[in-house]
Amino acid sequence: MEFWNLCLKMLAATITSDNYERWISGLNCQSWDKENQVLVLTHANFYALNTIEKNFGSTIQAIVNGLAGQSVSISYQAETNDDTATTEFDEDGQGKLFKKENDLPPPQEEGKAVGLLPSLTFESFVEGPSNSLAFAATRRVSEYPGTNYNPLFIYGGVGLGKTHLMHAVGNQMLKNNPNCRILCVSAQNFMNDFTTAVRENTYDQFNNKYHNVDALFIDDVQYLCGDKRQIQNKLFEAFEKLVPYGKQIIFTSDTYARSLKAMDERLISRFTSGLSVEVEPPELETRAMILQKKAMANHFDLPDEVAFFIAKNLKSNVRELEGALQRLMAYHMFKSNGPVTVEMAREALQSILVASTAQLTVERIQGVVAEYFKISLADMYSKRRLKSIVVPRQIAMYLCKELTKSSLPDIGDRFGKRDHTTVLHAVQKITDARKTDSDLNYKIHVLEQMLKN
Ligand code: ADP
Ligand code: MG
Repeated sequence: MEFWNLCLKMLAATITSDNYERWISGLNCQSWDKENQVLVLTHANFYALNTIEKNFGSTIQAIVNGLAGQSVSISYQAETNDDTATTEFDEDGQGKLFKKENDLPPPQEEGKAVGLLPSLTFESFVEGPSNSLAFAATRRVSEYPGTNYNPLFIYGGVGLGKTHLMHAVGNQMLKNNPNCRILCVSAQNFMNDFTTAVRENTYDQFNNKYHNVDALFIDDVQYLCGDKRQIQNKLFEAFEKLVPYGKQIIFTSDTYARSLKAMDERLISRFTSGLSVEVEPPELETRAMILQKKAMANHFDLPDEVAFFIAKNLKSNVRELEGALQRLMAYHMFKSNGPVTVEMAREALQSILVASTAQLTVERIQGVVAEYFKISLADMYSKRRLKSIVVPRQIAMYLCKELTKSSLPDIGDRFGKRDHTTVLHAVQKITDARKTDSDLNYKIHVLEQMLKN
């Protein structure tokens, strides 16, 4: 149950120790289904379980999502079938029967911010060219919430710092004004709350929670896409209750607003009515700096050349870098105590490094690109000259040059026996276009992540 233990550690760092002792320490993890991202938590006392879910549910959800790297569904279940009463013992050994919720002491006030992780701050974030726009925008929002950039829509691939920046805004706002009411939830939370409101007919409670805040942050709004009209309406409603009144909203998403499929057009227009910023995969120097910063936070001495070695080999996202560093630190602790070297990193990270370069082939790239642009694989080899086919074909050639060791003639060969100059032309064309075409850039980032994960 390593995963749950990590969650507990972060919870302990997030909520007051009193609340932790009284409430969280009684929670048990019954199962963690990594495949389907389902976590089942249990508690001996049914009413305590309710209280925990009500008061700490969104904090737990944020931590669990953060660690899992995606939206997890959490189910709270009572350990006993008898949900009317359970016995707990006082210090003097006297049994005490909890019969009603009222018998339980109320949890302490957790301050006015809900769902924020205190460790995700601007100070712990490394700024670089790939995120400088998002960094500047979030800093600005944290100083002047509800003014210019409202809503702020942060988008980009997984593990690139969207959630981190969003929480950083909240933590900074709280520092500037400890009384401000911030609600930070995952889209999943938002949906769960709504489902509860429908089931228990408690719309007032739902509205109260989402409308009476100074700032509302909703992570991963792409999960609200699809046949979820009622929920999308609710989000629209919250928007209308907050933004016109100078309350800040931040959304994050894995793609830019216009490309969210099956999302209410009114919402899309609201998403884009403030400022949209992209976070891109960090470049080499930033990756190395992130590693240094995380190592420092862990009091781990990471020489520059080792940081660069890792950064050169792991390119797709920051979460992956963090995992590599964790592994290197563990390896160093258990296997050797000498200085940290490139050799040691190579050994410690062997399996990760192999997986990340797991032979990307021309064929795989052709397959992924064809699927992404919804053209047939055969069009990668065909001579058809429709623009809707030529551009994806050129992008595929470009990616083959960037991501595989194949030579230009080799690549040409496998694109229907084309000449190497055709490949060269495609590579140059895409390289040039990337300098000005942000839409193209975005698509290539997405493709790179799809290929690397
Ligand atoms: P996303 O929400 O975009 O999927 P996260 O914000 O969860 O990504 O980031 C993944 C992990 O990487 C987090 O632990 C976060 O703290 C860390 N991280 C991402 N970008 C940076 C950065 N520029 N500097 C420091 N840490 C970062
Ligand atoms: Mg995230």
